[in-house]
Amino acid sequence: MYDLFVIGAGSGGVRSARLAAAEGFSVGIAESSRVGGTCVIRGCVPKKLMVHAAEFSQYFSDSEGYGWTIKEQHFNWQQMVAARDKEIDRLEAAYKKNLENSGVEIYKNFAKLKGLNEIELDNQKVIKAKHILLATGGKPNKPRFRGVHLTKSSDDIFMMNDLPKKIVIYGAGYIACEFASIFKGLGADVTLVYRGEVLLRGFDNDIQSMVRQGLEDKGIKVLLKSQIESVTKNLEGFTVALGDKRQLITDEVICATGRTPNIEYLGLEKLGINLKKGAVLVDEYQKTNISNVYAIGDVTDRLNLTPVAIRDGIAFVNTVFKNKPTVPDHHLVPKAVFTKPEVGTVGMSERDAVSEGINFLVFKTEFKPMKNQLSGNPQKTLMKMLIKKMQS
Ligand code: NDP
Repeated sequence: MYDLFVIGAGSGGVRSARLAAAEGFSVGIAESSRVGGTCVIRGCVPKKLMVHAAEFSQYFSDSEGYGWTIKEQHFNWQQMVAARDKEIDRLEAAYKKNLENSGVEIYKNFAKLKGLNEIELDNQKVIKAKHILLATGGKPNKPRFRGVHLTKSSDDIFMMNDLPKKIVIYGAGYIACEFASIFKGLGADVTLVYRGEVLLRGFDNDIQSMVRQGLEDKGIKVLLKSQIESVTKNLEGFTVALGDKRQLITDEVICATGRTPNIEYLGLEKLGINLKKGAVLVDEYQKTNISNVYAIGDVTDRLNLTPVAIRDGIAFVNTVFKNKPTVPDHHLVPKAVFTKPEVGTVGMSERDAVSEGINFLVFKTEFKPMKNQLSGNPQKTLMKMLIKKMQS
């Protein structure tokens, strides 16, 4: 019997497994896909490598203002993909090695709950464990419209064989805005279609307008208050019909319309594990309603960010294996969005501060960075700080 069995070897699961093993506990971990999870395999890391790839086009054009002449620019998608995937393979191997070096046993299987202390693998092997940690993450969510099966999700982007000439991206959250920047930087014609009026819902209003301006300055078409009604195949690509009867002709359509917790086939119902809006419901110590079953990260749909899942894992191990009950602090978590311009933010938005009736001052400055003076790049920098007024 293991002291801990973790289902899901993403950032949160791997950190928890390693930390518990480092305390001398016996630990097993199951992963049906690749070790590393969303962040390492099909999320932050490969995305960030693509952000870097896309940045070069701006560097090339900026360089002219500084006296450089770049005669030919040619981007080779396959070459970038091969280099990117080689790095992902290296990281996956490092994650596996770190688990093995910590004494964690890895099962390359889909695992589901069978009983209070039992997990069943997809090869019918039954494993016993005192504690079970659900760290299965999430998966892309697509809306319903005719022809949605013809669209790609963010997972599919990492398997694309070619750079599309034209691309329509649906949504205006992190993934949509980041990939709009990436594809534009790599040379595609990008249209962002969003049902709302302001991009990046929940962010500060100045960030929202700065990002929109930045995307449009780079030539990305931003269609607001627009919904996709259908996608149909045409001879060369796809026709996207919008609610207002406009049509877009494109080579690819990407739905970046949120993510949903991975709870399917986990056997949660067998143990009667409580859910909330399709996510595993946990208490402040990340315990489910079953006393030896815990859950961390995106499967709990609290704050879906890699560093948060890792902190969740640390808090879980402190609580269960180090006799140090720890509540993960999900307040004041910094957020970054890798658009052009990039966003870094922590704390409340101005809108939230107003709606909470907080008495505050705004310090704000917007300027053209010195580097952009000679290059002619119109991108400005915004710095904004909200300061809560002391009560007198
Ligand atoms: P987000 O929740 O950020 O954005 C989803 C977008 O899709 C919103 O614009 C939303 O519109 C729209 N949408 C949702 N449902 C529908 C629908 N039925 N029809 C039309 N539009 C719809 O999710 P993402 O997919 O961008 O990212 C998923 C998660 O991944 C995020 O929670 C984020 O935390 C994480 N992530 C973090 C990154 C980072 O830290 N840099 C990078 C990438 C992902 P509306 O606003 O109207 O709801």
